[in-house]
Amino acid sequence: MEKKQLDWSNLGFGYIQTEARFVSNYRDGAWDDGAIVTDANITLNECAGVFQYAQTIFEGLKAYTTEDGHIVCFRPDLNASRMADSARRLEMPAFPEERFVDAVVQVVKENAAYVPPFGSGATLYIRPYMMGTNPVIGVKPADEYMFRIFVTPVGPYFKGGAKPLTIKVSDFDRAAPNGTGHIKAGLNYAMSLHAIVRAHEEGYAENMYLDPQTRTKVEETGGANFIFITKDGGLVTPKSNSILPSITRRSLVYVAKHYLGMEVEEREVYLDEVKDFAECGLCGTAAVISPVGKIVDHGEEICLPSGMDEMGPATKKLYDTLTGIQMGKLEAPEGWIRTIL
Ligand SMILES: *Cc1c(COP(=O)(O)O)cnc(C)c1O
Repeated sequence: MEKKQLDWSNLGFGYIQTEARFVSNYRDGAWDDGAIVTDANITLNECAGVFQYAQTIFEGLKAYTTEDGHIVCFRPDLNASRMADSARRLEMPAFPEERFVDAVVQVVKENAAYVPPFGSGATLYIRPYMMGTNPVIGVKPADEYMFRIFVTPVGPYFKGGAKPLTIKVSDFDRAAPNGTGHIKAGLNYAMSLHAIVRAHEEGYAENMYLDPQTRTKVEETGGANFIFITKDGGLVTPKSNSILPSITRRSLVYVAKHYLGMEVEEREVYLDEVKDFAECGLCGTAAVISPVGKIVDHGEEICLPSGMDEMGPATKKLYDTLTGIQMGKLEAPEGWIRTIL
């Protein structure tokens, strides 16, 4: 297989169209066999459920090349089960979890020429998604759905090292207490756009969202979960029913306990206590961990002792261990690495 001639280390995080994607349709109560297709465009009726009432969900994961030259992806079974949870919450038929993993493998194989080489820092971003496709005008779930997976090569998240971010405590809410914050639905992102555009205009990289009920507890950012490091070197991560269960965060919790022997607490985290932590990071598939150096709460600055120059030492250890597992330098827990080629 001849790799595409792309400037791997200088790719951004944008869409680059490749030749192959996976499509399966749900009609008359069943998913069809699905197939790899070449057409990147979708033609739907103007009244399709997705256009009218936003019945759409998605996932995100990455394929990459390990040091020994294999193409792998990380815990795709967890994306499969999370997408099934998302589907159930939006009254959509879940795409069978085993078939999800199989389709990820197929589409990555078909696009192997786009999987960046080891050491480039770039990866192949995989985007599974599903939408209601038949006309829906009265408010109800669609009867027909399309499940698709496309891929796009993306550049290294941090060019020239991970610089700590400055974020702000948002006055907007991300997710209602009994709403849809725990599922990966486009609707959660549509309504966060206003808040992130405002935050960027004010010079902040991200929003820290609080629990809407009391506005005293830390939830997450628009697309990443929080981890905090205590002054004793323990890991604390917020627990709430309206946080999206990040696979990166769950993996870091495991790594902290079982590889690094750290004390781990998954519990409610109050904004009041954030000033007492030693380090703070945002975790998600895209960057694994982005360090946070400063949190601004209505003009009041909370400066993490780890500073604004580099990742704190515990965050760095977590980052190096998880990426070491992902890249095949450290032994992975059973089932974490799915070899594709
Ligand atoms: C996808 C997502 C995350 C990160 O989840 P990962 O599985 O680690 O990529 C965190 N928060 C939100 C709101 C998300 O949509």
